[in-house]
Amino acid sequence: MSEFEKDDMNQGNENAKDTDKESNQSHADGGRESEYEDVCFICRRPESKTGKMFHLPNHITVCNDCMHKTMETVSQYDYQGMLDNPALLYELNNFGKNMPHQDSVKKSNLTEDGEEADPIQGNPGKGYPKISFLNLSDLQGGIPNKQRLKRKSKDKQTPPIDIKDIPAPHKIKAQLDEYIIGQDYAKKVISVAVYNHYKRVATGTMEEIEIEKSNMLMIGPTGCGKTYLVKTLARLLDVPLAIADATSLTEAGYIGDDIESVVSKLLAAADNDVDKAERGIIFIDEIDKIAKKKNTNSRDVSGESVQQGMLRLLEGADVEVPVGANSKNAMVPLATVNTRNILFICGGAFPDLEEIIKQRLNKQTSIGFDADLKDKYDKERNLLSKVTIEDLKKFGMIPEFIGRLPIIYTLEGLTKEMFIKILKEPKNAILKQYQKLLELDEVKLEFDDGALEAIAEKAMQKDTGARALRAIIEEFMLDIMYEIPKDDNIGKVTLTREYIEGTGGPIIEIRGSVE
Ligand code: ADP
Repeated sequence: MSEFEKDDMNQGNENAKDTDKESNQSHADGGRESEYEDVCFICRRPESKTGKMFHLPNHITVCNDCMHKTMETVSQYDYQGMLDNPALLYELNNFGKNMPHQDSVKKSNLTEDGEEADPIQGNPGKGYPKISFLNLSDLQGGIPNKQRLKRKSKDKQTPPIDIKDIPAPHKIKAQLDEYIIGQDYAKKVISVAVYNHYKRVATGTMEEIEIEKSNMLMIGPTGCGKTYLVKTLARLLDVPLAIADATSLTEAGYIGDDIESVVSKLLAAADNDVDKAERGIIFIDEIDKIAKKKNTNSRDVSGESVQQGMLRLLEGADVEVPVGANSKNAMVPLATVNTRNILFICGGAFPDLEEIIKQRLNKQTSIGFDADLKDKYDKERNLLSKVTIEDLKKFGMIPEFIGRLPIIYTLEGLTKEMFIKILKEPKNAILKQYQKLLELDEVKLEFDDGALEAIAEKAMQKDTGARALRAIIEEFMLDIMYEIPKDDNIGKVTLTREYIEGTGGPIIEIRGSVE
């Protein structure tokens, strides 16, 4: 056996041990000590819905309803008149005794001194053959924890949000500033909206005065930081976040994910804790892709229908979602999550929206005495920021959908200066990461201004926003990261525009000459 194979086997054994351990822990004392709720083995509902469970051997738990139904079925079943049929009963009692190979088996079961072996070890002569339809040991462990809900014990309830714990908008923005370059307006809007949202959640005033939820619609070109903004926000606030892609959603019953699958993603992100999930954030990206399809005769299952289907969620509803899976089926437990306090943020690039805005603006200015030039808005940079609800409707978003996203704002396209700042300024900037890596080799890494500009220019050509930066840097850092550790004498590397553009090399300084 090769070393690799041995390794694999060891690994396998360890994994098996781990799983055993986990299942033992989670099912200690029949699952009563576990932090996860028990799930009925038959109907798959969690304990919080079914009430107390029966604990059977092999860590199988069955709810009261299913247990009673099973008992009833068993007691009503007359075994197809079996008990009234003496011939059948005789056959059953003598089953195995008349089997043709009985003798040969019997012989092989005799021990050396001629005694019969243990019948359980497979002696058909003693009554029943060794036939088993279900290997109970396969059921060991029952349902994995990832498909169970977190148990809510009285002292471990997720504490309600305390108003004093919610950071004020300026503090949220200051923290966002550390990671996100530019987008000041977006950062301000999101900070205020989030602050208000959690204030409402904390005080529960949503029901009394029916204040609208602060669901948001974020419009901005690709790679300008939409997802990054939401991710950073969720991390700062320490709330669970689910990121979903609207393109994968379809109306229930069609191929693709159900709309409600976004909530089950959030539940997974909240560690299957319903309370925690109910105050999380759901970010739905590429929302422009579910615009109403124009000129179509077929049913629009991934466009308008998805918008319709999302209305309930955005507003706040109880939804039954599968735990630990994307789709509902008989084998997955279900949990009820209320979306009233979940903050929905939708984001999209809305590529043709600029054209719609331009047309509207041009129409307005081309009428009357002070008519303007037709192409007045052609060169306007942040045309998107002039968006109105009418424009979005024209784009294909249905009015009810936009109505449930009261906060609409835009992010700016990134400029060259912003690209350069993104490279070096955020707390976890890409350059800082590389500098840290080389620092471990005691080598200083520097980028001169020309190099930064050249990288930014390259990134701008790609039209994928800041996402292009990492790809570009990785491409030419590969050589540096490969060559530098070869030579212990190197103390400092400076990258130049020439190196980025492929017309020269980096400036390398030998240790000792570097202060
Ligand atoms: P999108 O707007 O398409 O959702 P992302 O938020 O996914 O784009 O951005 C891609 C990456 O680019 C992020 O992971 C982040 O590192 C970087 N990035 C984009 N915009 C900014 C920004 N304004 N400040 C800092 N980093 C940014």
